[in-house]
Amino acid sequence: MIEWNEGLNLGIKTIDDDHKKILHVIGKLSEAINNNENQHVIETIFQELQACTKEHFKREETYLQDCKCTKLEDHKEKHRAFYNKLSKLKLKAISSKDYITSQEITIYLTEWLLNHVIEEDIPTIALLKKCGMTEINIEKDNSLLEKLIKVITDRFRFTKRIFLSAIVPLSGMLLFGSIIIFENFNEYINMEKTSKITHITTNINELVHNLQMERGLNSGYLSSTENKFKKDLEKQRKVVDEAAKKYTDKIKTIEPQIKTLKKDILSLDSIRSKIDNKAMSQVQEINIYSKIIENVLNITPKIASLNLDKELSSSIATLSSIQQLKESLGQERAYGTTIIEKGDATVDEYMSFARLLGTQIAFLNTFNHTASKAHKKINDSLLISDIAKQIHIYEDKIKNHNYDNLDSQTWFKYTTQYINKIKKFEDELLYEINTSIDNNIASTIRNFLLWILFNTTILAINLFILYTFKKSTVMQIDQLTHAMKDLATGGRSFKLSPINMNRDEIAYMYDAYETTRQKLLKGDMYTKLYQSKNDLELKNKEKENLKLEEMAFIDPLTGAVNRRKFEELSEKEMERSARYKSSLSFLMLDIDYFKAINDTYGHAAGDEILKHFSSICLDMARSLDIVARIGGEEFVVMLPETDSDGAYMFAERFREKIYSSEVEIEGQIIKYSVSIGIAILDNEKEVKEILQKADKALYKAKEAGRNLSIIYK
Ligand code: GH3
Ligand code: MG
Ligand code: MG
Repeated sequence: MIEWNEGLNLGIKTIDDDHKKILHVIGKLSEAINNNENQHVIETIFQELQACTKEHFKREETYLQDCKCTKLEDHKEKHRAFYNKLSKLKLKAISSKDYITSQEITIYLTEWLLNHVIEEDIPTIALLKKCGMTEINIEKDNSLLEKLIKVITDRFRFTKRIFLSAIVPLSGMLLFGSIIIFENFNEYINMEKTSKITHITTNINELVHNLQMERGLNSGYLSSTENKFKKDLEKQRKVVDEAAKKYTDKIKTIEPQIKTLKKDILSLDSIRSKIDNKAMSQVQEINIYSKIIENVLNITPKIASLNLDKELSSSIATLSSIQQLKESLGQERAYGTTIIEKGDATVDEYMSFARLLGTQIAFLNTFNHTASKAHKKINDSLLISDIAKQIHIYEDKIKNHNYDNLDSQTWFKYTTQYINKIKKFEDELLYEINTSIDNNIASTIRNFLLWILFNTTILAINLFILYTFKKSTVMQIDQLTHAMKDLATGGRSFKLSPINMNRDEIAYMYDAYETTRQKLLKGDMYTKLYQSKNDLELKNKEKENLKLEEMAFIDPLTGAVNRRKFEELSEKEMERSARYKSSLSFLMLDIDYFKAINDTYGHAAGDEILKHFSSICLDMARSLDIVARIGGEEFVVMLPETDSDGAYMFAERFREKIYSSEVEIEGQIIKYSVSIGIAILDNEKEVKEILQKADKALYKAKEAGRNLSIIYK
């Protein structure tokens, strides 16, 4: 008997135990049959088998119902059918005395169990697993990662998963590249804007510088009685107008905050006419001009706050602090000019002058905070220059209200010189900034183009890899899946051609498929071979049986049929003759003095005579005729479709043939004769009756001296 194979397990302990138990009971039954146990023992084992099968079916049906199996009814039907069959098998096994039949029953039961497990139960594993019934499911995957893997596996087919694993990182890279391209683009736009603004700053600087000059001269003009500054002022106004024109031409396309400045510049005309008429105080004048200048200077910190690199923004901050410092100096020049010219100062003027000195220190601190070493050095040399010293002397005297030997125009000249030097420094800074921005723009455009190139290359490479990957792997997997499906549905001809020379995972899978295919093919061929072998054996057995059957009614010595068979055939022939009213004759033949032959030549010689006798008789008989040996040396011949004349002719021909024969046995010639009684069918119903008639005719032939043929009358 076969043993349980763990591969038959479903993963549900109770069900697997049931199957094992059923197989065990079948094994027990087989053993009992082998040991020739009595009927009672076999019946008890059968009862055990029935009980455990019933219990098993019940359990299985409950599980399938719990799992809402759609094929539950099919299962139930198969279970019922087998249970009924089991009762019949039990009866057969108990009643059968035949060992082979009994053993066939156990083979049938084993085969049923295997089919039940493989064809009915194993296909339900997936459903039972889904219901959480199988033990495999007990090892729950709890981690978040495993859950995620499960969701992805459930949602996407294998080929899609492969595709995703390639496309997701690719998309990530493309997204990353696109962000960088976008960033570069933004930077470029900002730089473009900054460039425009900083280039304008050059003009603004020019304008501010000249406005500051005008403011200073205005102060001088307003405070002097001798129109000292009139000439310079008129010249300066022209310079301012020119700078303003350049500026307004440029700012046509620029931001709203600069537009407000345009208004300020346009308002200059009315301010100037007020100044000409001296309809404005110096403080008012300084405040109005300072406000306009402040508006212009506010642009620079705005540029510094744009999204620029660190170096550039600190350069702009440096520029801004220098601009403020210069503006403060400009205001100081204006206040200074007024105070010196008047030789006195109001509290407001004095406070403003002092405040300006303070703010200059603050701007210098800001400058030192942001400026580079080189810039600091330039500034330091400015601070200790002769002109700076001269200005300090003036400042100290003004602070001490000592206006002796102070000349407003000299003050104006010194401060202007100093401011001009600062302006030069400012221009240098601006030039550096503009160059740096232009460089930045160029490198941003370069980066931008490089990133586009990078992204396009990555995309192209990945698309190529994806395409070749799909061609090489996904197609192979598809081919393998197709082949496996074909194999599962009975196909054995699908051959997978080797893909590559390298032994990779897919090549091993192909090998495994090919090995499985060959094994299954071999299995199929062997099964067919065994089937045809069995068929052949069965046919041979049938033939043998037929032969045995034939032998059972043929006399082995003479080859004539025996009495039983003769009676059977005669009966049929008699019926047929009666039905078709055809004639039927019977000959009863007996060898004369056979006892004497036996006595003279021995029993073996007697047998030889019997063989000789029957062979001649069988030779002479037609295929329809029947020759039978009904006693020791007594024969009958049935001649269908033969009337009395025909029968007599046959009898005589045969008798003469025997009489003229010489049989040579061990060098001796033996001659013998036969007596024949003939009876023609005449409404007799039984073979016995007609044979009695023939026997009577034979008796007459013997009586009449033997070696004769006589018809019964
Ligand atoms: P008849 O018929 O002419 O009256 O004389 P018979 O000698 O033939 O008479 P009987 O019927 O008494 O003898 C038959 C003998 O046949 C008896 C028996 O020993 C012999 N015999 C029967 N069967 C066989 C057999 O199979 N082989 C041999 N050798 N002899 C057999
Ligand atoms: Mg005889
Ligand atoms: Mg006899």
